[in-house]
Amino acid sequence: MPLDPRDKLFHRIGERSDELVELARELIRIPTVNPPGDAYTPCAELIGRRLARRGFAVTYERGLGAPGDNERYPRTNVIARKAGQGPGPCVHFNSHIDVVAAGLGWTVDPFAGEVREGRLYGRGASDMKGGLAASIVALEAILDEGIRFPGFLEISGTVDEESGGYGGVGYLAERGYFSRPRVDHVIIPEPLNVDRVCIGHRGVWWAKIETHGRMAHGSMPFLGNCAVRHMGAVLERIEQSLIPRLAQKHTRMPVVPEGAKRSSININSVHGGLGEDFEGLPSPLVPDSCRMVIDRRYLIEEDPEEVRREIVDILETLKGERAGFSYSLSEVLHFLPTLTDADAPVVRAVSAEIERVLGRPATQVVSPGTYDQKHVVRTGHLKSCIAYGPGILDLAHQPDEYVLIEDMVSSAKVMAGAALRLLGAAP
Ligand SMILES: [Zn+2]
Repeated sequence: MPLDPRDKLFHRIGERSDELVELARELIRIPTVNPPGDAYTPCAELIGRRLARRGFAVTYERGLGAPGDNERYPRTNVIARKAGQGPGPCVHFNSHIDVVAAGLGWTVDPFAGEVREGRLYGRGASDMKGGLAASIVALEAILDEGIRFPGFLEISGTVDEESGGYGGVGYLAERGYFSRPRVDHVIIPEPLNVDRVCIGHRGVWWAKIETHGRMAHGSMPFLGNCAVRHMGAVLERIEQSLIPRLAQKHTRMPVVPEGAKRSSININSVHGGLGEDFEGLPSPLVPDSCRMVIDRRYLIEEDPEEVRREIVDILETLKGERAGFSYSLSEVLHFLPTLTDADAPVVRAVSAEIERVLGRPATQVVSPGTYDQKHVVRTGHLKSCIAYGPGILDLAHQPDEYVLIEDMVSSAKVMAGAALRLLGAAP
């Protein structure tokens, strides 16, 4: 009976855990904080140089003209491609290299990559430099084992996922990098926990509502028209009628955590009257403008048009009820929900390898928030796309973010095994 190519491959990956940790530390030490989009180029070049040494063809694509792109903060993406022996499919691992700001509350240096008790700490350890490092070591191990495979292996490090991905996967998807015939399967090592396959995400609709009023002297508010009071009425309707209604909307999508199986709205910000930087004594004015940003997350069962209409209905009703009420509504951002078929080859391959490596069945989940899968699916028209990585979902964007070293090693095995399976190089 021929040996399963995974046996030696997994052993090799296990032996390389120190190298895997070292690579993840190197990545964490480059503070690719977004905004503003710092240090993207050195980070992309670290990945590019390393993979070029292993025979990958490396391309850099700058997201020219994308939001935030300029000479100081170029949106540098890296794509590395390695051909196998003969024609075949392409399996692509895509990681975003940007991280959110460290913020307060850390007990370790967020950009040092400290290792303590089996954990690697740092901003981006879970989201998602630990996953990026695991995918690199996984593919290097395949090459070093000399395993023959048809088709192509690809790895990309892309920017701006945390701000919508327009300069990263969105930009590349528009240029064919995430479409057939170039690519067939995409695995995104986002932090969804080492034993879970993430098949999609909820939809997101951000909108800005402004209520308009008329200025007057604060001692005679009856002569003006208070925009903040109007916004108060909008908030009350959201509180009294919309939020309870959204809580009734349940999805069949396996969204985690449990609370995100419902539709939701977050009041992102409200600003009215005096500027935010106000200090000292206020001037006696009735505010003529109040602005609110809402963050609506919705389910695959919901009609995107209905999501918008719920807000318009509230505003139109108030217009009929409140004297002097007028408003404007503008869309800030909109991404449709995505859901990969549970039977897609990439879902089956990763699930099978999770079970093989961890000895327990994989769970299918859907992410409460959006990530770059939307660009792959909607713009690249590629359906075989999932997220799978070693990071811990709940730690993303938190102080003292870490990833378990054991999980990085396990996920590298899962990624390597899944790649071989998808390429047809292993049963
Ligand atoms: Zn992420």
